Amino acid sequence: MRIYLCGVRGSTPAPGAEFVRYGGHTSCVAIAPDDGPPRLILDAGTGLRLVTGLLRGAPFAGTIILTHLHWDHVHGLPFFAAGDREDARVTLLLPEPEGNTTAEEVLAQGMSPPHFPITPRGLRGEWSFGAIAPGPFKADGFTVEAREVPHKGGRTFGYRVSDGHSSVAYIPDHCPTALGPGPDGWGEYHPDALALAAGADLLIHDAFLRPDEVPALGSFGHPAADYAVSLARRAGAGRVLLAHHKPDRTDDELDALAARFRADPRVTVAAEGQLIDL
Ligand SMILES: [Zn+2]
Ligand SMILES: [Zn+2]
Repeated sequence: MRIYLCGVRGSTPAPGAEFVRYGGHTSCVAIAPDDGPPRLILDAGTGLRLVTGLLRGAPFAGTIILTHLHWDHVHGLPFFAAGDREDARVTLLLPEPEGNTTAEEVLAQGMSPPHFPITPRGLRGEWSFGAIAPGPFKADGFTVEAREVPHKGGRTFGYRVSDGHSSVAYIPDHCPTALGPGPDGWGEYHPDALALAAGADLLIHDAFLRPDEVPALGSFGHPAADYAVSLARRAGAGRVLLAHHKPDRTDDELDALAARFRADPRVTVAAEGQLIDL
């Protein structure tokens, strides 16, 4: 499979000269089979706009899976030109809402007047909306495993996507310290995180904080980058991409993060526009 990093920023977009090399778009990863255009998209942050360019004028036909409904994971939806046209066919899936709400209703709570001019139904093309329960399911030729992970403010899933040959684990928003400090103080290496990352060729993981920021900011729902690296080692993941960067984290600061893990060739700091073949 081919993986396109279309948005690796967390919380809110980060435009500006200090954010050019790693990029300012929020969470979005597009996955393509070896022989075709992207047809599975993980999260619909503002990076979703870049997927239109990858399709080279064609409409999107495939599935968008959301980890959760925070703004930085959905705000690209109405600006996805390849999905908002009459010949598009899009299945949008999100974690099963709590209570008696449908997936479309919970999405529309944040995307409808007066917050935004249109509802999800206002997108052109053939859109369908569905809820995911934890466990395995099939999506556009890929096998996906959903597991709930601790974050903050709303049910949040991590995913593991496999094409039968390679696998990628995607956990962009994760607060493992919510379950306790764990063996090294970075948070618990809990069974769901370990299962998602176990033996994966690639782990794309939340690396929002520096260790010195954890005491003040750890309750905001994100871990230190060190947790992601340690999780990958413990789970036997082949590579780890540190992602969901703090919005004020400059390119130079992200270079410093990369330098801190230089001794381990399996660790890379995620940058927008990066392409990974598995
Ligand atoms: Zn986020
Ligand atoms: Zn979040």
